[in-house]
Amino acid sequence: MNIAPSKYILSSDYRLVRAVKPNYVKVNSEKIRCGWASGDASLIEYHDREWGVPVHEDKTLFEFLVLEGAQAGLSWVTVPKRRESYREAFDGFDFEIIANYDGRKVNELLVTKGIIRNRLKIESVVANARAFLKIRGEFGTFDSYIWKFVGGRRVKNNWSTLLLIPAQTDVSVCMSKDLMRRGFRFVGPTICYSYMQAVGLVNDHITSCFRHDQL
Ligand SMILES: [Zn+2]
Repeated sequence: MNIAPSKYILSSDYRLVRAVKPNYVKVNSEKIRCGWASGDASLIEYHDREWGVPVHEDKTLFEFLVLEGAQAGLSWVTVPKRRESYREAFDGFDFEIIANYDGRKVNELLVTKGIIRNRLKIESVVANARAFLKIRGEFGTFDSYIWKFVGGRRVKNNWSTLLLIPAQTDVSVCMSKDLMRRGFRFVGPTICYSYMQAVGLVNDHITSCFRHDQL
């Protein structure tokens, strides 16, 4: 989740943090959802159904790796919207097919509508598919590799407001280093933490959000 910042403010410990308005959105009298999930219907649906739900299928884990890398530096709002275009452009996120993409295919993708047409980002998807296969070769599944970073058990956080949610953690730094060492690209500590939130290694719904206790 890369929350679209509205402005920067000083937090209580004098760090410059992104101020997000509002902190939550009232769904009805009893129901509240995280404030970043508002406005766009695909973003709300993504929040309500997927964000923070533990993922164990390698294909879906790869899909989120692609989407998180694609959104690097951009607002999350664009990603759920572009997801189907990505699915279509990248062979349904099939990492075995993507690992075999050649230069011609990359050039084709550079003129494909609906995806972020950035050469480095597109090439990173191919490099990541290859590195993903290597991890599967070593660990059996990417699932067993990635869940080791949280000891196999999802971390349930209890943030009362969005401002308390970190952009990265010691675990995401460690994950980032290991992924980079293995040839992955667009896997900085912030992207890794966003990935951890998306695939449910951590539950970062704010405590008042109706999804916090459902997960
Ligand atoms: Zn939430």
